[in-house]
Amino acid sequence: MDGKSFRCRIGMHHWVLQHEPESGGAFYECSRCGKDRSPDGPSVPPVVPG
Ligand SMILES: [Zn+2]
Repeated sequence: MDGKSFRCRIGMHHWVLQHEPESGGAFYECSRCGKDRSPDGPSVPPVVPG
């Protein structure tokens, strides 16, 4: 084991929605390895405010 989840190694990250306090924006970050993904990327569910 090298510290990273096997699923992360094969691209199956555990995306969780994170918020940026400074800009008020939101983005997805893997709770296991910390990798972030652009909100504009593919297969990301739309973020509906309010
Ligand atoms: Zn990951």
